[in-house]
Amino acid sequence: MAELQLRGINKSFGAVTVIHDVDLDIGDGEFVVFVGPSGCGKSTLLRTISGLEEPSSGQVLIGGEDVTDFDPSERGVAMVFQSYALYPHMTVEQNLGFGLRMGGMPADQVAQRVASAAGTLELTELLQRKPRQLSGGQRQRVAIGRAIVRQPKAFLFDEPLSNLDAELRVQMRIEIAKLHQQLGATMVYVTHDQVEAMTLADRIVVLRAGKIEQQGTPIELYDDPDNLFVAGFIGSPR
Ligand code: ADP
Ligand code: MG
Repeated sequence: MAELQLRGINKSFGAVTVIHDVDLDIGDGEFVVFVGPSGCGKSTLLRTISGLEEPSSGQVLIGGEDVTDFDPSERGVAMVFQSYALYPHMTVEQNLGFGLRMGGMPADQVAQRVASAAGTLELTELLQRKPRQLSGGQRQRVAIGRAIVRQPKAFLFDEPLSNLDAELRVQMRIEIAKLHQQLGATMVYVTHDQVEAMTLADRIVVLRAGKIEQQGTPIELYDDPDNLFVAGFIGSPR
């Protein structure tokens, strides 16, 4: 059974419909990348999965359960934000544990989760630093760590690397691929970077004006794009 299912999702803001009847099944452990031009609905679709947006119609299922009416915190998925979303006045350790503490988790359990995530992300030596004492890559790892400590069923990334310089983007992309292998978790990743899409994805979903234009493995889309729009987005030569 698919881990994440979108069924007939529509989303309007006022009179403007930005997502049109999207159906999508994402398998357990699958890495799915959404690409498409600015404004095509990538973030809105991702936020519909996380519960930050409520669809105008349609259902969201996670692990087979209809969670359409669930709050974000009840869905067992975690959004990864850009690193500037860290709390500047808190240490790395406090940043990693903050969400869990707010959720009422006992301190010893929070400490265990934080230690484990810090180990996974090679942040153990940096736990007492503040974000301003970290490099851009280290800050981004803390941002990912805040999702990992929640041990989510799925990770949702919205252009997590877009404010990093080119070299760091490459390094973080490799780290995210490793993390996916290591955790085996379902990941949905929004990017406008063709290289990120081609190298990270098990499956790429190309969105255009709130609809799925084409989807397939990176190779399928590269070798056999349905049209010039898809070819342009995948960097295929035709
Ligand atoms: P993308 O992430 O692909 O750039 P978005 O999902 O952010 O696109 O936006 C899709 C469309 O929905 C855009 O036209 C955007 O202006 C509109 N939109 C997104 N959020 C809101 C909102 N809260 N209120 C009104 N319009 C919105
Ligand atoms: Mg967006």
